[in-house]
Order: sequence, then C-alpha cells, then structure tokens
Amino acid sequence: MEEFMKSNLNFSSRVANLNPYIPGEQPKDREYIKLNANENPYPPSPKVVEELSHFIKNNEMKMGLYPDPDSTELRKSIAEHINKTGGCMNNPQKLKNPVSENMIFCGNGSDEVLSFVFFTFFDKVIIPEHTYSFYPVYCDYYGIKLEKIPLNSDFTLNKDLMLEKSKESSGLIFANPNAPTSLTLSNDEIRQMIKNYPKDKVFVVDEAYADFSNDSAIPLLEEFDNLVIVRTFSKSMCGAGMRLGYLVASEKIISVIKTAKNSFNHFPVDSLTQCFGINSCKNTDYYIECTKKIVNSRQDFCEFLKNNNWFFYESSTNFVLAKKDGLQGKQIYEAIKKEGVLVRHFSTKGIEDFVRISIGTECQMEKLKQIMSTL
Ligand SMILES: *Cc1c(COP(=O)(O)O)cnc(C)c1O
Repeated sequence: MEEFMKSNLNFSSRVANLNPYIPGEQPKDREYIKLNANENPYPPSPKVVEELSHFIKNNEMKMGLYPDPDSTELRKSIAEHINKTGGCMNNPQKLKNPVSENMIFCGNGSDEVLSFVFFTFFDKVIIPEHTYSFYPVYCDYYGIKLEKIPLNSDFTLNKDLMLEKSKESSGLIFANPNAPTSLTLSNDEIRQMIKNYPKDKVFVVDEAYADFSNDSAIPLLEEFDNLVIVRTFSKSMCGAGMRLGYLVASEKIISVIKTAKNSFNHFPVDSLTQCFGINSCKNTDYYIECTKKIVNSRQDFCEFLKNNNWFFYESSTNFVLAKKDGLQGKQIYEAIKKEGVLVRHFSTKGIEDFVRISIGTECQMEKLKQIMSTL
C-alpha cells in the first residue's frame, strides 16, 4: 500500500482510505508447524480427494464452461449436511424443521459472503471491540460507519449495550463463538437478544467455529426471519484452500443478497469447489471424527495450560487464547516461533498480552506443549 501511495499513479480516494486485513503469516524460510490461522490440521476425507481427482480426469469440458451460477446441487448438499448435524458437529442433532436449499447462499469463502452481507444491509454497523478483524476492513471498503462495543471485563460480549446501540444503526454482527476470545453465547442468550432487537434489521451471527462448540443458532431460524448465519468450509470442513463459504437465512434475505452478488460476480464458486463442497457434505461422519479429535486435543491442551500456570479462556473453538504472567504476548510468540511453531499474536490494545493458538494434530500439540513448558 505505501509503495502504491508513493508512486505517481493516480488512484481513487476510496483506495487511499483502506486498511487491509493482515492474515496470519505464511513464511517460506523454513518449515513451521502452522498453528496461527485456525486452519484444520487434518486433510479432507480421502473420498473427497478421490472424487475431485475423478472430476478433473473426466470433466475437462467443465473447466472450459462456466459453473452453475446458483450452486444448486451444492446448496442441496449443504442443506442435507446441516439437517443431519444441526450445524454443530461436536454435538450433532438432527434438525426438527429442516432448512431447504432456498435458505442457503454460497460464496467464495465466507469472507466474500460477509462482504455481500455488509454491502447489502449496513450503513452503520455495531460490532464487539474484539472480534473478527475483517469486519472493520469491509466498513472501510464500503464506506460503512462502525461502532465498536467494548467487551465486559471477562471478555464476554456486552449484549445489552450492543442491543441498545443497534437501535441507532442498521444492524449488528459478531462471531459466535467469538474470535479471538474463543468464548460463546448459548442459544438461549441469542434468542433473548433477537427478541429485544429491531425486527426490521438483520441480526448476523458468524458461525465459523460453531462446529467446535455445543450448539449452532440454526434452529433459531424458524423463529426469526431477520437472523443471518454465516458459515465456512475453512475450519471444521478442512477446506480453507478451496475458498467456500455460505449463509443460511430466510428466503427473502437470500433474494436481496443475490442482487448484490449478481451485481458483482455471477460465478463466485468455481466448478471444482462446487464438487469439493458437494462431496464434503456426503462425508459428514469423517468431519465429525476430525472435530471430535480437535475438541479432545483442545481439552488436553487446556489441562496442560492449567497445570503450567497459563491463563486462558474456556474455548468453544479450534483455538485457545492464552497468556502467562510476566511474559509479553510478542515474547511468547517469538519464543515459540524460534522452536519452529507459528502461533498468532495481535498487537491490538487489550489483547496484546495474549497469543492465539490453533489446535493442531496430537503430535503437533505434543511438540508445542514441550516448547511452552520451558517458558
Ligand atoms: C476464518 C474466519 C472466517 C473466514 O472464513 P473463509 O471462509 O476462509 O473466508 C470468517 N469469520 C471468522 C470469524 C473466521 O474466523
């Protein structure tokens, strides 16, 4: 960006005001164990890999033709997957009132889906002070006003203040479970919030991590037609590299979002990714297994942290936010990096003492524990 500003090219006033998202680093200088981007440490199901290879070998014309712009078969598969798990693979429950494919909208990663949500519904938006750091980036991009609501001192959301402030805004969004705090609201708490929330504004919950918690807000969709739930294949479905996200909401919300999408990019989900998503949803049991392994490793890791005098929040996600008295966050990050493991440090005020550690395989976590026990 700075190089760009220094050049003598003309650029728009829009671009001068952007503050782009900084993703977890991907260094090439040596092989690190990557526990810094909340990716899934397990590969996709071998059946998915096989179907993708088959697709490439037998459908070369599909590469030359445009994909289905509406991802119809993919949306059906996602609906089936959701109806089987209730949106929470750690605690799968069949949905009593199934969602239909008409309540699903797919995009190029949930980041793109979120960008359509911001574009479509917000002139001014309420977010928690510490949450997914892409939300303020979209606000810059689309010229949306933003009000950040401080967290309570125990890092939980200040629900009352968020509700109060949303009266003077066009809506609110937060991640549940939240990032990087890893804390979650129960469905009863969310229901209570939406009951006290304006019916003519969307209530957006980003469920990137819901599969690792104990429930999803999906069953609340039958009660509230202003609820929007954004989800991704990047975390619990082992597919961050495939770029696939979706939202679940009432049909009338889907139809407005589609207007935004068709004014930007007709074909956000390519053929190969549609094939990936369809087959992933046919292998739910495999992903339930991966989720259980990660939740078990998380429990084991938290036990380790407790026994070694680390402070951490009770995690409902595939990561843990931890700190230790006497150590700065950056110091912890650097000491761990020196030993070949990457975790995430944010210099943002309020969370600068912490590191965010994604849960890896059992073997990766053993290595990390060994490193951390020397700090
Ligand atoms: C990882 C993450 C996303 C982005 O997911 P993609 O589908 O990979 O774009 C969205 N929201 C939150 C809270 C996340 O942590």
